[in-house]
Amino acid sequence: MSRDKKVSQEKPKEIKPSQEGLTVKKDENFSEWFTQIIQKTELADLRYNVKGFLVFQPWSVLSMEKMYYYLEKVLQKKGHKPYFFPTVIPESNLKKESSHIGGFTPEVFWVTHGGDKELEEKLALRPTSETAFYQMFSLWIRSYNDLPFKTYQRANVFRHETKATRPFLRSREFHWIETHCAHESEEDAFRQVKEDMNTTKEVLHDIFGLPFIFFERPSWDKFPGASRTFAADVLNPDGKVIQQPSTHMLSQNFSKAFDVKFKDKDGKEKLAWITCYGPAVSRIFASVIIVHGDDKGLKFPFEIAPLQVAIVPINKDDDKLIKKSKELKKEIEELGLSVEVDLSEKRPGEKFNYWEMKGVPIRIDLGLKDLENKKITIFRRDTDKKEVVPEKDAIKTIEKISKEFTKNLIQKADKIFEGRIKDSENLSGIKKIIENNGIARISFCSTEKAGTSCAAKIEKETGAFVRGTKFDEDKKLSTNSKCAICSKKANHIVYVARAY
Ligand SMILES: [Zn+2]
Repeated sequence: MSRDKKVSQEKPKEIKPSQEGLTVKKDENFSEWFTQIIQKTELADLRYNVKGFLVFQPWSVLSMEKMYYYLEKVLQKKGHKPYFFPTVIPESNLKKESSHIGGFTPEVFWVTHGGDKELEEKLALRPTSETAFYQMFSLWIRSYNDLPFKTYQRANVFRHETKATRPFLRSREFHWIETHCAHESEEDAFRQVKEDMNTTKEVLHDIFGLPFIFFERPSWDKFPGASRTFAADVLNPDGKVIQQPSTHMLSQNFSKAFDVKFKDKDGKEKLAWITCYGPAVSRIFASVIIVHGDDKGLKFPFEIAPLQVAIVPINKDDDKLIKKSKELKKEIEELGLSVEVDLSEKRPGEKFNYWEMKGVPIRIDLGLKDLENKKITIFRRDTDKKEVVPEKDAIKTIEKISKEFTKNLIQKADKIFEGRIKDSENLSGIKKIIENNGIARISFCSTEKAGTSCAAKIEKETGAFVRGTKFDEDKKLSTNSKCAICSKKANHIVYVARAY
C-alpha cells in the first residue's frame, strides 16, 4: 500500500543502549532526540548486520502487540476475516497490474535461488500483497452473495529503500496490517474507504492518541494502481508530516488484471470493485514515540504501554516494604493492568528517572514513612505530578488515572497539532508557515495534472509538498477564490507541509 517517494537522507548515529537520560531536547534537535530515545529506552537495536534492518526489542514489541490487538479487534468487528498469506509472490503476479509493478520494481527484494538451483520464476519478498490476495480472490469470489469480501492479514513486508533508512519510520522490513476487500459497486467500495478512515480515527486517535488529517492525495501522488488514494498525515515537532495509514480505491484496475469477477443478481458477470488499507504498526509506533515523548523520555498512552505500573520500594531490603509492594502488585493486577516491582540495585532516584524515561504511565514510590502513615505516593507520567493518597484509596486512584491518562495525552497532542495549521494566501506566506514548522492551508487550482506546476513551484521555493485535500472541505471554498500560486480559479483547499 503506501509508498511515498520522499526519503530522508539522515543517517542515524549509533548510540549504545544505556540507562542514562536523554541529553538533547526534543524541540531543539528532534532528529538526535529520536535516535537517542530509541536506543536509550531500548526500543530497537540498530546493530544488526544487514543494512536497513533492525532488531525490535521487548519494549517496542510489547507495545506493538497491543497496537495490533486494538487494530485487529476493530477490523474483525467490522467484518474483516484474518488470513496469513505467503511471504513470496511470483514475478508474474507482480507484473499483472502495470502501474503497480512500475511503482514497486525499484524496491523489490527478489528470491532467485532454492539452494544452489536457480528458480524457474523469480519470487518477490512481498513489498505489499495486492497481487497475492487478488490472485486468490479470483478463485474464491463467485457471486454477489460472496460480497463484500473483507479480509486482512498482519504481516511483515520488505522494501529495498534506496536512500537512508530511519528506525521505525522507514526500515527495509516493517510490520503492518493490510486489508483487502472486494465489493459489488463503486458506492460500496467508497463506503469501505470511509469505514477505513473511521477505523483510523477510532484506533489511532482515540486509543493511540495521534492527531492527523486524512487527505485525498493529488493525482500525482497516488498509490501505484489506485484511482484514488486517501492517507493520514501525522505531524512531527520538526514540521515534517509522516504518512500513516492510507486507504485506496483500486476500483476495477486489479480485478481486470486478476480476473476478479462475480455473477450479479441480474445473472451477468461483473468485475469486482477493490479497496485496500494499510496501517503500518511499526511506523505508527514511531509517531506514538514522537507525538507523546518529551525531554525526559517516552510517554505511552495507557492502553498500549508495555508496562502500565511500576512499584519502587524506596528501601529494597526492607521486608515490610517488599511485602507491601507485592500485595499492591497483586491488587493492581486484579484490575487487569500490568505491574512490576523494581527490586534492581539502582538508587531510588535512578529508578524514578529510569521509569519516567521508559514512559510507564504510573509509578508508585513506596517509602517507610508512607507505610507508617498509611499513605501511598503515586507519580503519573501524563501530568508528571505526584499525588499522595490514603492507602485505602490507592486502587481507586489508579483506576481513575488509568481512565484519564490517554485522554490527557490526546488533549495535549490535538492542541499542538491544531495550533500548527495556518491559512495563507501567497507563496511568501506559505514559506513563513513552513519555516515555523507548520502546515499551510491554501486555495489551490487543481489536484489533477493542471496543478503540477504550482505544486512544483511550492516544492522548489519552500521544500514542502501539496499533501492533498481534506474530505468534503472543498465545499467551503467561495466561488471567487484564487489559487495562492497562479491566481487562476481555485477548485480546492489543499494543505502544504514538509514530509518524511
Ligand atoms: Zn495554481
